[in-house]
Amino acid sequence: MFGNLQPQAPDKILALMGEFRADTRQGKIDLGVGVYKDPTGVTPVMRAVKEAERRIWEAETTKAYTALGGEPAYLSAMSRLVLGETLDADRTAALSTVGGTGAIRQALELARIGNPGLTLHVSDPTWPNHVSMARFLGIPVAEYRYFDEASRGVDFEGMKADIGRARAGDLVLLHGCCHNPTGANLTADQWAEVSAILARTGAVPFVDLAYQGFGDGLDEDAAGTRLIVANAPEALVAASCSKNFGIYRERTGVLLAKVEGRAARDLAAGTMAFLNRQTYSFPPDHGARIVQTILDDAALAADWRAELEEVRLGMLSLRRQLAGEMRSLTGTNRFDFIEHHRGMFSRLGATPAQVQRIRDEHAIYMVGDSRLNIAGLNEGSVPVLARALVEAGV
Ligand code: PMP
Repeated sequence: MFGNLQPQAPDKILALMGEFRADTRQGKIDLGVGVYKDPTGVTPVMRAVKEAERRIWEAETTKAYTALGGEPAYLSAMSRLVLGETLDADRTAALSTVGGTGAIRQALELARIGNPGLTLHVSDPTWPNHVSMARFLGIPVAEYRYFDEASRGVDFEGMKADIGRARAGDLVLLHGCCHNPTGANLTADQWAEVSAILARTGAVPFVDLAYQGFGDGLDEDAAGTRLIVANAPEALVAASCSKNFGIYRERTGVLLAKVEGRAARDLAAGTMAFLNRQTYSFPPDHGARIVQTILDDAALAADWRAELEEVRLGMLSLRRQLAGEMRSLTGTNRFDFIEHHRGMFSRLGATPAQVQRIRDEHAIYMVGDSRLNIAGLNEGSVPVLARALVEAGV
């Protein structure tokens, strides 16, 4: 039996982490893995998270199982964080999941039960796990044009043409904000156009919201999601708490399914809880409880928002600094897109050979497709990267 197993292709980003660790050069810079780092290179535990953990530790009297679909208070706090004023509780089923990844997995499983013939439409490029999870489940994947290599912005005409070909009952996966890996995002008007195309075709929006609060602000980053969910008769949202609460290893996420009415909501919620049961049974509680404790306490929530805002503004300022350095080194505004991109990532448009050269000659580690993690930089390393990019002829 086990003799039939085949080696799995190693995850490229995890392999890069290993290479970075093994590099003994002084001053090496890790712009690879998608984890927020402060200017000292640390991924901190947020203040509100520490305080929530202290309160939970003091108040908790049992470690008995939580509810199969997750704690109702967590689900309602997260539904409000994601959908805000547009939340239609009568039509929205929610599920506590193992991270955003777990939410994506359960969303695909749920959609496949609803429509076994569906195709998943993803942006070209997208987070590689979207494609591999769908393929693993036997769901056909179609790519829609998204990134314009020349402008490093969105190829919106291409995107519209391609998603217009989705059939009724297909899923169209959209990054809610802070597109991974490109950093290029839709404008409010473009979200509205996408929403109208999906309404015409009957394809179902599936929003992956993994970086709410990392782009333009908590509400701003959810605006596209809110619009598209409000306009669609049916929609799915997979949200992650890993980045905006900084609780990566606690594996905390939520799946929201907007359906046609109350009876459909209860049916969806029951099916979603069933999916948890089939996969890992009860969801983990600690991260969900941290999030709910913070969101349901005005002072803690304010402190969390303030710290998240510092993180966001820090990344924006690094973007501005890098774009400025590139302007003065190249005498052009070719790299202004870095300032317009949002979130942790930007795809620079360097060739794999240039990415390799920058790694070999400057010990700066980016993913091979030239995705860089802005949060891996600090004020001191921005000029080092800028010079390396210019020297490599990017
Ligand atoms: N979607 C995207 C686009 C991501 O980048 C990530 C994390 N890298 C996830 C989902 C999953 O996040 P989590 O760690 O919560 O599973």
